[in-house]
Amino acid sequence: MPVPTVSFLGGVREIGGNKILIHDGPDRVLFDFGPSFSSRVEEFYVNYLQPRSTSKAKDLLEFDLIPRVRGLYSKEALADADLGYTEPEVSAVFVSHAHADHAGYLDLVDPAIPVYVGEGTRTMLRAIETSTRMKYGDHDWRTFTDRTPIRVGRIEVVPYPVDHSIPFAYGFLVRTSAGTLAYTGDFRHHGPRAADTHAFFDAVARDPVDALLIEGTRAGPDQRKNLSEDGVRTHVDRVLDTTPELAFACTYPRDIDRLLTLYRAAVEADRSLVVSVRTAHLLAQVAPRFPAGDVPVPGQSPGLHVYARKKLVSYLWERPYLDAALSAAEVRTGGSKYLLLLEQSHFTELIDLRPEAGSPFIHSMSEPFTEDDVDAKVMHRWLEHFGLKFRQMHASGHASGPELLELVRASGARAVYPIHTEHPEAFEAAGSSVRLPELNATYPLVGGR
Ligand SMILES: [Zn+2]
Repeated sequence: MPVPTVSFLGGVREIGGNKILIHDGPDRVLFDFGPSFSSRVEEFYVNYLQPRSTSKAKDLLEFDLIPRVRGLYSKEALADADLGYTEPEVSAVFVSHAHADHAGYLDLVDPAIPVYVGEGTRTMLRAIETSTRMKYGDHDWRTFTDRTPIRVGRIEVVPYPVDHSIPFAYGFLVRTSAGTLAYTGDFRHHGPRAADTHAFFDAVARDPVDALLIEGTRAGPDQRKNLSEDGVRTHVDRVLDTTPELAFACTYPRDIDRLLTLYRAAVEADRSLVVSVRTAHLLAQVAPRFPAGDVPVPGQSPGLHVYARKKLVSYLWERPYLDAALSAAEVRTGGSKYLLLLEQSHFTELIDLRPEAGSPFIHSMSEPFTEDDVDAKVMHRWLEHFGLKFRQMHASGHASGPELLELVRASGARAVYPIHTEHPEAFEAAGSSVRLPELNATYPLVGGR
């Protein structure tokens, strides 16, 4: 009988875009399915040049930007692509967390294939679909809970919660008919759920697994400064303590931990956090998934306000937040009463807000990889124009290079495959168990190496 195998259909020598296919007899399970952050897609599709909504899979297959897997794609997405539609041959898709590079291609998947996500992730995906143009498609959605095993034919999947820059992120322990595998998803252990990450790696070492598929976003050379989530809080406190003006911050829209850090710091400094309508919607949706009182709810919790940009039309989902929302004039007049979240795409609000020169702009996101980053240049030009003082303070969603090597050594895994990294070779320092996977290659889970 053929041994179970693992194939790497994405996430090889690139950050994001993991597509891990596990094959055991008649059963095939895919882990994560989204575009990578590498420039490969952008070699063909940029700005307004995008795959057609009537044949998205066909248009991506044209340039090998998605894998040629039979029985995975929907009839609609394939259109008349040469791959050809067949009945589902993939038994299930598991999604580790709601970031686009892990879930962003779900709309290509045949609706007959069950898609497994954490309960919280289902809530996040719904909120994103409602409040953005992102679409994940119609599926046989199935939700899993922490550490409750799911059986798909011969394959058993145990989802372990891990700490990451979006809540409801999971790593997986996968038991096949011959051999076990652990897939980390994306993780860190310097955030509020560090204990979850430790518990997952304890389980990996206890098994111990035949193969460990580990993300390495920060492996290799990375000079960028990183704080813990608590460290970000300390830095934000310091800025708010010494600021007599309106303060600004920007961060990733789905990083609930960071939103809470900024909210708590604002309240501590007798300010209110002012968020966009979209962020208000997300907070309202996810709050019930957290212990009562942990996540502030717009319209109910003190110290939280919504900012209303001037718009010609408003969507139905926006309306509950608009009546009590603050205008630019109100935020400008209130000044030191507020910490305003302002993403770069809404910088035009500054023209109305007219902040006092020297007001702080807390950049709570990763620094750009390169010095000629266009968005960063534009951001700094705007900040300079309005005399805003740039303050960098961020906690990454990913473990550092040295931490990754330590985890690999402690795992006792027989084979270690670094993925979701531009520097897989940096893992080789962790020992001889490290193997650099090739894109689209298939490896036996046990023996045969
Ligand atoms: Zn990722």
